[in-house]
Amino acid sequence: MATRSGASRTRTTPPVLLSVETPADSRGGALVMLVIVCPNCGPRNDNEFNFRGEVIPRPSVDTDPATWRRYLYMRGNTSGWQRERWFHVSGCRRFLNIERNNVTNEIRMVAEVGGDTT
Ligand SMILES: [Zn+2]
Repeated sequence: MATRSGASRTRTTPPVLLSVETPADSRGGALVMLVIVCPNCGPRNDNEFNFRGEVIPRPSVDTDPATWRRYLYMRGNTSGWQRERWFHVSGCRRFLNIERNNVTNEIRMVAEVGGDTT
């Protein structure tokens, strides 16, 4: 395993269901709590993390302006599995790539950025 100042880590978490639904809130909506297993800190409540959005492959520097515009401003907004970037703000303060089903909140992969080739 690499050190904190060295190359990226390659640890990932096992694919497990990590979301927990709780009873309805006072307005009748369901409250959902995610438990994210950080590769550095272990299982943590999602309120320790910041959602940073969908992970989109970065185009090369010499690509055309239309491609850059799509990269900067357009999102897929798909239903189902997507790769997302989260920041563990109350823990190790590292960026994580998470594969999450945004319909069921099931999480099947958590890896530190750079540890899973992205
Ligand atoms: Zn962490």
